[in-house]
Amino acid sequence: MTRPLYFIPDWDDLVDPGYDFLTDTARGKGWESERYAHELLERPPYDGILVSKVVEEKSKKRRERLRRLGVHGALRVPREFPVIGDCGAFGYFEEKLPPYTSEEIIDYYTTCGFDFGVSIDHLIPSAEFPDRDLRYEITRENAREFISLHKKLGSPFTPVGAVQGWDPDSYATLASQMITMGYTMLALGGLVRASTETILEITRAVRGVIPPETRLHLFGVARIPMLEALQKLGVYSVDSASALRRAWMGSTDNYHTLKRDYCAIRIPEPGKRGPMKNLTGDDLSLARRLESASLEKIRGYDRGAVSLGELMDVLGEYETFYNPGKKSRLAHYEKTLREMPWKKCSCKICVESGVEVAIFRGNNRNRRRGFHNTFVLYEQFRGMEKSSRAQKG
Ligand SMILES: [Zn+2]
Repeated sequence: MTRPLYFIPDWDDLVDPGYDFLTDTARGKGWESERYAHELLERPPYDGILVSKVVEEKSKKRRERLRRLGVHGALRVPREFPVIGDCGAFGYFEEKLPPYTSEEIIDYYTTCGFDFGVSIDHLIPSAEFPDRDLRYEITRENAREFISLHKKLGSPFTPVGAVQGWDPDSYATLASQMITMGYTMLALGGLVRASTETILEITRAVRGVIPPETRLHLFGVARIPMLEALQKLGVYSVDSASALRRAWMGSTDNYHTLKRDYCAIRIPEPGKRGPMKNLTGDDLSLARRLESASLEKIRGYDRGAVSLGELMDVLGEYETFYNPGKKSRLAHYEKTLREMPWKKCSCKICVESGVEVAIFRGNNRNRRRGFHNTFVLYEQFRGMEKSSRAQKG
């Protein structure tokens, strides 16, 4: 049984490959000089990429690049690297109707060279949602129009029917209708916030009414504990960016390993953002002193030249300064520092950047740590492959 493929949603996640951590200076900024996770690591930490139109449209530059270079060129992946295109229903769920037509979306998928193109769906937030039936109908009729236009135009990408619903039956009904329309691949939406149990129930119901060879993608769902169950249900692929984003959005689970998650060490830059943005005079000088002492000591600790106690003292002093009266993360820091996960990881980011990856500070450290998290997540997908091979052998 093949494992589900892992796709990462593209959110323009780039870092500067020549970033100087010691002086905190960038060598270059922007798409030309910055690099994606698949360019920085030894091999891509995912099987494919999901590109949502609503995300691409946030920037004029990105939109033009996509049209000019094609989606593979814009992402700098080989032509054979799988890329799914969708509209990104989460981006327009507050609107009465989706902002696109099937004609324009088919033209966009074709012009940009997507491998898979998803029909235009409309999210149904709950069973009680007033426009529930209207959105269900819109999703169905868009799928019908999408595949008939795709056939008429002889479009080169694989058409994917986007399925929405509010319970297992509604998902299964629509999925079965889409099979009748001619789809050989379906994608289930609206599951991001659902419980594992609900996701499995819905997937099981859908699987029960579609042919075994129909490929099934699950949007926004790449949870390790349910991977095996999804594999048994013959799920073709899943996507999620949450491992990446926890690196800077998580409170204490920023740095992932196969065994556990660690808290990254906050050493913020005074005068940059947050509560220290408007510091002046003596306050600013003190903040800068604590900041550079923290950086110096953490690097010294990493080399074995500074004791943990000495480092914790300065981190504590700095935390009291920039985060007065708020919940302390020092106990979490101590755990991270004692176990030094960056010294145990084989990914190129940890090997090359070392302790800098464990520091919560600016895009070049935080996003690198996100790339590392993605690498760890993908290792677990790849681990399923090895264990199923071992079982066979
Ligand atoms: Zn790593």
